[in-house]
Amino acid sequence: MVTRFCPSPTGNPHVGMARTALFSWAYARHHGGRFVFRIEDTDASRDTQESYDLLVDVMRWLGLDWDEGVEVGGPNGPYRQSERADVYADVVQRLIDAGFAYKAYDTAEELEERRNAARAEGRPSGYDGLHRDLTPEQQAAFEAEGRAPVIRFKMPAKDWTFTDLVRGEITFGAENVQDFVIVRANGQPLYTLTNPTDDALMGITHVLRGEDLLSSTPRQIALYEAFAEIGVGGGFTPEFGHLPFVMGSGNAKLSKRDPESNLLDYRPKGFLPEGLLNYMALLGWSIADDRDVFTIPEMVEAFEIGDVNGNPARFDLKKCEAINGDHIRLLSEPELVERLVPYFVDAGLFAPEGPTVDQRALLEATAPLVHTRMALLTEAVEMLRFLFVDDADFVVDPEDAAKQLDAGGLDVVRAARQALQELHASAAEWSTAGIEGALRAALVDGLGLKPRLAFGPVRVAVTGSRVSPPLFESIELLGHARTVARLDAALAGAGG
Ligand code: GLU
Repeated sequence: MVTRFCPSPTGNPHVGMARTALFSWAYARHHGGRFVFRIEDTDASRDTQESYDLLVDVMRWLGLDWDEGVEVGGPNGPYRQSERADVYADVVQRLIDAGFAYKAYDTAEELEERRNAARAEGRPSGYDGLHRDLTPEQQAAFEAEGRAPVIRFKMPAKDWTFTDLVRGEITFGAENVQDFVIVRANGQPLYTLTNPTDDALMGITHVLRGEDLLSSTPRQIALYEAFAEIGVGGGFTPEFGHLPFVMGSGNAKLSKRDPESNLLDYRPKGFLPEGLLNYMALLGWSIADDRDVFTIPEMVEAFEIGDVNGNPARFDLKKCEAINGDHIRLLSEPELVERLVPYFVDAGLFAPEGPTVDQRALLEATAPLVHTRMALLTEAVEMLRFLFVDDADFVVDPEDAAKQLDAGGLDVVRAARQALQELHASAAEWSTAGIEGALRAALVDGLGLKPRLAFGPVRVAVTGSRVSPPLFESIELLGHARTVARLDAALAGAGG
């Protein structure tokens, strides 16, 4: 089995694309087959090198490794269609020589006129085959007029039936598939030719792709049948599976313009590749009725294309985040620390070359405190920032300060400061339990406050936010001097 992913490098990689890549990859891996990554960059006006680089990066980040293709090479290269012009020219010539394709000289106006006439008479409005059997003299006459021909493929007049791996049997009536253009008048080969040519030459056995390409399938099957006659590729037609549309938050197809569709946003937002992959797998597939969370090896073990549901799948960002949170919880502590480091670098809390020994030790001590409290890795950065930030840069969230550090709140802060000073002065250890005991005694017993009211102001003053790791652990890790300095700053800030 050989599957492939063959995007066109235009714009940013998007979710629909990655879902196609994931299913093709998982299908090959499940069956011990090969996975090819090819780039379909035959449209120089839209394709960009930047988009190509992003595609390669995103595939690497997701961990969808390919056995053959761009960057890694292989026996059937090159794997960028822009480097394969001679391959297509040769195939086209062989198709013409064997009578499967022909030059058509119709002008746009002529085509339009005949199309309108056909419509008016209720006949199919595709190409009517007028230039199918031109004599060499007729061709020469058109060329003398300065007309540049397109190359059309001669569709055999028959119905096209195939068994889609997702949708079952599908038939296109002969009247719906006319002779189609495979090479433009300017010599540029089109997707309808280059895609099956490469699939044939690269030995692709199973084509998985979006439902939007379903209507091109009969034409591609016809090409494979011609290829078998002229000896291009292995002489067989691959199986096709058309994956369901992905719908956005409205009732419309998720489009490149929808913000959740841009794959490049997921990594900076704090998604794990395995969390995103797990969620994308659910866009048309499930491992079991009552189970949403699975690892990628589990998916590979279970994935069968026949289990994909042909109905449109809805993309739900909230659910995607929740599943990411589940995958964060599945990480071991050391693994979590490794995954967090780049985010601390990006936030400017660690130097670009990585954490110091002390910073790493502090992250190792604090990561467990937030491990179960986030859906995105960036939330850990926000929750732990107060520990890693330079004291001079520490700021309290103004909204949280307004809510928690009013006059009553500051009375609590004052009492907490005193209790912590006394704890530090006593022989007692600066420990989570000691801190909790001292603060409970002073605030809950001493001031008679409910715990929520007692600890809220202290939390905001010390961590800068109402959302933080557990308070007493946080104070222990921050240390006595830094904690008291922050309580002082809160008191001074309010005093004017
Ligand atoms: N280059 C095509 C696309 O990006 C691939 C279509 C296919 O998988 O056959 O839509």
